[in-house]
Amino acid sequence: MLLCPKLLHMSLRFDAIRQLTDKSTALVGAPNKTTTFFASNVFTMKTAREFLSDEAYKSLRASVKAGHKIDREMANQIANGMRAWAETKGVTHYTHWFQPLTGTTAEKHDSFFTLKSDGTAIEEFDGAALIQQEPDASSFPSGGLRATFEARGYTAWDPSSPPFVIEIGNGKTLCIPTIFVSYTGESLDYKAPLLKATEALSKAATDVCNFFDKNVSKVTVTLGWEQEYFVMDEALFNARPDLLMTGRTVFGHSSAKNQQLEDHYFGSIPERVYAYMRDFENESYKLGIPLRTRHNEVAPAQFECAPIFEEVSVAVDHNSLLMDVMERVARRHNLRVLLHEKPFAGINGSGKHNNWSMATDTGVNLLAPGKTPKTNLMFLTFFVNTIKAVHDYADVLRASIASAPNDHRLGANEAPPAIISVFTGQYLSKVLNDVKERVSAGMDETDESLLKIDIHKSIPELLMDNTDRNRTSPFAFTGNKFEFRAVGSSANCANPMTVLNTIMAQTLRDFKKEVDGLIEKGEKKEIAIMQVIREYIIKSEKVLFEGDGYSEAWEKEAAKRGLPNVKTTPLALDAMVTEKAKNLFHDNGIYSHQELEARHEIELEKYIKKVQIESRMMGELATSHVLPAAIRYQNLLASNIRGLKEAGIKESGFANQLQILNEISTHINKTSDLVEKMIEARKSCNKLSNTREKAIAYQQKVKDSFFDEIRYHVDKLELLVDDKEWYLPKYREMLFLR
Ligand code: ADP
Ligand code: MG
Repeated sequence: MLLCPKLLHMSLRFDAIRQLTDKSTALVGAPNKTTTFFASNVFTMKTAREFLSDEAYKSLRASVKAGHKIDREMANQIANGMRAWAETKGVTHYTHWFQPLTGTTAEKHDSFFTLKSDGTAIEEFDGAALIQQEPDASSFPSGGLRATFEARGYTAWDPSSPPFVIEIGNGKTLCIPTIFVSYTGESLDYKAPLLKATEALSKAATDVCNFFDKNVSKVTVTLGWEQEYFVMDEALFNARPDLLMTGRTVFGHSSAKNQQLEDHYFGSIPERVYAYMRDFENESYKLGIPLRTRHNEVAPAQFECAPIFEEVSVAVDHNSLLMDVMERVARRHNLRVLLHEKPFAGINGSGKHNNWSMATDTGVNLLAPGKTPKTNLMFLTFFVNTIKAVHDYADVLRASIASAPNDHRLGANEAPPAIISVFTGQYLSKVLNDVKERVSAGMDETDESLLKIDIHKSIPELLMDNTDRNRTSPFAFTGNKFEFRAVGSSANCANPMTVLNTIMAQTLRDFKKEVDGLIEKGEKKEIAIMQVIREYIIKSEKVLFEGDGYSEAWEKEAAKRGLPNVKTTPLALDAMVTEKAKNLFHDNGIYSHQELEARHEIELEKYIKKVQIESRMMGELATSHVLPAAIRYQNLLASNIRGLKEAGIKESGFANQLQILNEISTHINKTSDLVEKMIEARKSCNKLSNTREKAIAYQQKVKDSFFDEIRYHVDKLELLVDDKEWYLPKYREMLFLR
């Protein structure tokens, strides 16, 4: 039987494009006021009040507020109350929900349903099941902390983050946020260290606050993340094996138009995407995620959403949960969300700005300039300590955001450099300068030169200065918070937040010691504080930069200043395990040396695997998609030329065809040759047993040596080969069709 010629060309690509025109926008329920369903799937304290006895409620509240331990009897009561609430929503199963180092979230569902010993069927959720579970830990990364034959780790309920109900289709599951630790107490997840670091910072910050205000008894850390992402049609996505397997396009010639017209940013949101946004926002609201903003981003098909900031551990949970919700809801709309840092070459990548600050239990944001000299001195103290922390530990902070996908964003071409610098804005630069020039030892409170330091200017003026703020700085002060912008879009915020909180805790403790020392020597408190602030400004000056962080001039300048600029993950990760880092994390009770070594190992392994998978994907796509198409076209050209020759046409009559044939043949040979060589390079890397050396080898001998070059030839072929022979969706289709 002869195949219909049309069917021969029926590739996923053309099928996807054809289907697009048939797609209508999915309907999202009519908008209700968000307040009517916000947090309806969360076991909030208000819900707890309703479903728990007085006694159980009080015990839960004490645990949430002050971290008090909950005893077995109370746990039983609380678990019962949670089940009763969950059952009103049709929940049948529960799970401990945690954030292992794989970078996704993990859950293993158990039913409430169980059998009594006499065979009676009952629904049950007891305190023991609420407080602790033992998932099979052997399949999660541990960096050698625990040998696989001793696969014991447990998840433990973290009452500071409220339980919630996840709905997948008609299935509903009660999720208990937990931390994940080994039996010997080592952290195996992102959450446990974050809680420790937040506690360390809270304590150190409270002590420093007490210089200014004795009423402060607790400081909380706040985080508001801004999530960037791409959205594309699912059928087109499915026709790109590289997106499916690696999250990014390893090949693809840029389209004639991309972001050069700058017409996408803040433009009107396309209807299909808009329906998707509203849908995932509603799902998020039910889960208590306080999303606030949505808009287009710079690149075509790129968008952003951001919530109202929250206490850092809840904010981290909410971001992990949101990423999950976004992925799931996208499929309902036949769309796919791309959370990868660089899904498309040649246009902007995606980040996740982490807006970070601290607030006292008396209601003061410690990074908001105050109205009185006293509150302003407190602001200045925290402001300068942050700069000092970033200066002293820039390398550790850089390591906290290092990953294979983020390497395409930081330090690569078309991306900001991997230098950590701090932007303060013009006004505060001047304040810092004044302090530096005017404060001196032995000066007195009423000293005129001190009064001249205008640290209690009005806030509006300060904020005005920040409206033209620098978008190219990786760590910028934005009026009442610092914004850590180098975090990758697919990252778990917990890691950078753990590091930031730890370095800040350390710096504040050192600060307090120095001030106390001066006070003991007889210096007045305010003067002592000003002196240490001055010393810190001088010591950390070189990390301050107000100019264009993306410019080449800055890279040169930063090198002159001695600021680290480590472009690749395997080397950036070295900063995790220096003596300095080990002491830092040990002294603050975050990681033992062993835990740190284990994490280092895990990050290196993740890197190796990602590069390995990308490399395999490139080889496979080149061999099974690109070369066959190119060779078919090559044959066509060759037979065309042969035909012309046979017809007696002179060579000048088919010179163009010959030239194209030559070009195609060159790119085919090059591609095929390079793929072979890359496979050999992988084999030699795999022989290395030291994980760090292997990661460096993968970066230098596989990624750097082959990725760009193979891509160059493949992308050239994409331009040369007959469009209908090309089965991979092209950039213009992925970015502009929806
Ligand atoms: P943009 O940076 O895009 O201009 P905003 O400055 O309004 O946007 O806020 C960005 C994020 O910073 C939001 O999630 C917001 O809630 C958060 N944010 C605002 N104040 C604080 C704070 N004190 N601590 C932490 N995050 C904050
Ligand atoms: Mg921002």
